[in-house]
Amino acid sequence: VQIITTTQKPRILLMGLRRSGKSSIQKVVFHKMSPNETLFLESTNKIIKDDISNSSFVQFQIWDFPGQIDFFDPTFDSEVIFGGCGALVFVIDAQDDYMEALNKLHMTVSRAYKVNTEIRFEVFIHKVDGLSDDHKIETQRDINQRANDDLLDTGLDNVHLSFYLTSIYDHSIFEAFSKVVQKLIPQLPTLENLLNIFITNSGIEKAFLFDVVSKIYIATDSSPIDMQSYELCCDMIDVVIDVSCIYGLPEETEGSTFDEQSCSTIKLNNGTVLYLREINRFLALVCILREENFDRQGLIDYNFHCLRQATQDVFQVQFKSPRKLEGTTKV
Ligand code: GDP
Repeated sequence: VQIITTTQKPRILLMGLRRSGKSSIQKVVFHKMSPNETLFLESTNKIIKDDISNSSFVQFQIWDFPGQIDFFDPTFDSEVIFGGCGALVFVIDAQDDYMEALNKLHMTVSRAYKVNTEIRFEVFIHKVDGLSDDHKIETQRDINQRANDDLLDTGLDNVHLSFYLTSIYDHSIFEAFSKVVQKLIPQLPTLENLLNIFITNSGIEKAFLFDVVSKIYIATDSSPIDMQSYELCCDMIDVVIDVSCIYGLPEETEGSTFDEQSCSTIKLNNGTVLYLREINRFLALVCILREENFDRQGLIDYNFHCLRQATQDVFQVQFKSPRKLEGTTKV
């Protein structure tokens, strides 16, 4: 196995047994593949370094490992692999017998923790679309218990594992990835604080800061998140991008159809409004509010400009690249 030397960016490693769904997750979340198309994916048998930093705000890489990688193989350099890694996502196929996966998880975690105690361990209990609600909870409890028992037995009880129930057939995989990515963003508390101030002063119920390409939300205010609101916001991003692609820039123009003037309002028939604004060429703010509060759009827009400025200050470095402004679409 050839390992390429690492870069400075925080890295997410995606690991798990063969056929657990690693390539599917990567393709669906970061490359807009539809879940059904993953049926025809070839199984992973080498390390894939997928650098998505050119298209996405979140700067990280995914290394897709073949399931049967041998840690005792001398060419497997764990210092390099785990050393600069921010989070290790371990995928377990919940529709299959998971005993072997648990062994592998334990082996991987102990090996990685030896090299890097800062690493965050994230376990995706995956393909749960095939499980009933009761079965999901029971599987999560069982996997949680066994994985932690294994750690206890080997004296690694201070290692923390986080568990997520995921499937590529619904939004759970995006939600799980959002949480994983958020832990790697040092500015998160500041962003949450800014969003809290913004919603309180604008009569907004919920606001998400989205990475447009992956539909990962990198921050939200501190009110509780319900899955349905998150799904609505994801769908809104798809609508805006699709309409922008159709009616936006002419084909020969370079640059993204998502730009500074991208803005969209969707009124639902239950008295709710969805409002989307561009923060920068990677990020969008999506808000959910009551229709009557949208009467004060001037105030919301004013507050939004303050929020955009503040967010840009927080991420100063990322905003140096020029962008195109002409040919914009208002949806
Ligand atoms: P890898 O070897 O770990 O990269 O696994 P693949 O990504 O090739 O996935 C193996 C199979 O699992 C494929 O046929 C996928 O369609 C399927 N799969 C992946 N994710 C899910 C999921 O969330 N639910 C279901 N039901 N099948 C999935």
